[in-house]
Amino acid sequence: MKQLLALMYILIFSIAGRSQTTENIEMLFPKGKSKALILSYDDGCVQDRQLVKLMNKYDLIGTFHLNANKLGTANYLVKDEIKKLFKGHEVSVHTFNHPGLTRLSVEEIQFEIVEDREELERLVAYPVRGMAYPFGDHNDTVVDVISKLGIQYARTVNDTYGFEIPENFLKWHPTMHQFSKAYWKPNDPIQDSIEMTLFYKTIDSFLQTKNLAVLDIWGHSWEMGGDSKKWAETERFFKYLSAHSDVYYCKQIDLVDYIQAYKNLRFSMNNTMVFNPSSLMVFFRYNKVMHFVGPGETIRL
Ligand SMILES: [Zn+2]
Repeated sequence: MKQLLALMYILIFSIAGRSQTTENIEMLFPKGKSKALILSYDDGCVQDRQLVKLMNKYDLIGTFHLNANKLGTANYLVKDEIKKLFKGHEVSVHTFNHPGLTRLSVEEIQFEIVEDREELERLVAYPVRGMAYPFGDHNDTVVDVISKLGIQYARTVNDTYGFEIPENFLKWHPTMHQFSKAYWKPNDPIQDSIEMTLFYKTIDSFLQTKNLAVLDIWGHSWEMGGDSKKWAETERFFKYLSAHSDVYYCKQIDLVDYIQAYKNLRFSMNNTMVFNPSSLMVFFRYNKVMHFVGPGETIRL
């Protein structure tokens, strides 16, 4: 009897201690690609026209964070051009007036997000779900407020120089500023050259890595202003990053939707089957072999 009880305990505890393992499963991006590129520009100034033209020339996709209340004022884009200009790119929240959000009350933060989101949605005619913090300024209160207003990711300006997918999409730290921090101090060509070297070195490590990687470059088109050298440099790095068969060129919100679809895959107990409840085709590796599962499909592994 004692032996039987002991056996039962062993059996119960061995089942209770088991958990589903996902360690042999690795996410891939759409079409089985292992890298994703986000190009993220803030403020919606008139130089965005030139920037979008260059992006379109190299089949690159941008994410543009706009302040609706600035549109139509000096040096900013006008409302009537937003939908057409950013066709194929993403339009995203950057607050209504571009204040530092951490110095505002909860009500004021809500106003800045809601007004911007509503007006941008009216202009582009789709739900606007992403954001970049003005000046990168955020704290836990700001994050809590925006999380309740339908914002699904929010980019900071805390450059990581890495390629990791962030844990918290509302604290999305980018890889680096465009040209790294070159030109941040006026008339410092030695520093500029160090920063440009770092910029291209980081791009090269992204292009060479065999790991899953997201390169997220942010900036402002007004930083190039009327400087033809900076525009030529922009074209150079756009060309350098274009047409790589292992890179998924995406709007930031598309990447967010895709990662969520991946996270929603439902594997059977022994990983012999997987169900994809989302509306996206999802790609992954299981025991180093690539698989894909269509929207609503269940496949055997
Ligand atoms: Zn800004």
